[in-house]
Amino acid sequence: MKKKRNRQIIYCIFLAVLILMGLFLKKKSDRIQAVNSQNAVSEQAEEKSELEQEEELPPRVALTFDDGPHRIYTKNLLDGLRERGVKATFFVVGENIPGNEDLIRQMEADGHLIGNHTYNHADISKLSDEENCRELQKTSDLVKEITGHGTAYVRPPFGNWKDTMDCRVTMISVKWTIDTLDWKSKNVTEIIGKVMQQISDHDIILMHDYYETSVEAALQIVDRLQQEGYEFVTVEDLILE
Ligand SMILES: [Zn+2]
Repeated sequence: MKKKRNRQIIYCIFLAVLILMGLFLKKKSDRIQAVNSQNAVSEQAEEKSELEQEEELPPRVALTFDDGPHRIYTKNLLDGLRERGVKATFFVVGENIPGNEDLIRQMEADGHLIGNHTYNHADISKLSDEENCRELQKTSDLVKEITGHGTAYVRPPFGNWKDTMDCRVTMISVKWTIDTLDWKSKNVTEIIGKVMQQISDHDIILMHDYYETSVEAALQIVDRLQQEGYEFVTVEDLILE
């Protein structure tokens, strides 16, 4: 009789333990589920904010001008860019600098990037490495005298660079993605058309601040692309992004 009662007590205790364990496990799994769903929500929010950030970034392009500075046209261009709050890159020819130091100073003051286009508009593919180094160094030194620092970027005239030059100079050679052929057409509508048909994010536009038509076209291109939400940055900002 006593034995039977003991067995009943043990059975009751066993049942109670089972019920308690069941309750404990349920509570734990509820907690895990709650944490998991919270994580999923915050991951979704993170993904969403990253996407939103990407969508918010405006397309960026770089306007580049070779062959200057020109006493009249470069001055008009610099004033127009200043009015519009636009930064560009000027690959200057060293022999055009004397007498135009004020223009180099204005480029520097307005946050434009001053690059190197050799001293005599030299075809780098046709000269020795020593001659090329002299061409680049002379222009860099002239810029340094005015601004306090030399040139870190070079646009080789005619787009002709030599790979052997990479080990001779520390300057970075910069080409382009849109050639406006502004020097050839000297036609404002044609120059604007070439850019507007091809433009997309991260393009580098090649122009020359040595012609009246190029400057007029450049400022109209700025107005139109700014309306479309484009941002103008220097070549350095575009490359280092
Ligand atoms: Zn050139």
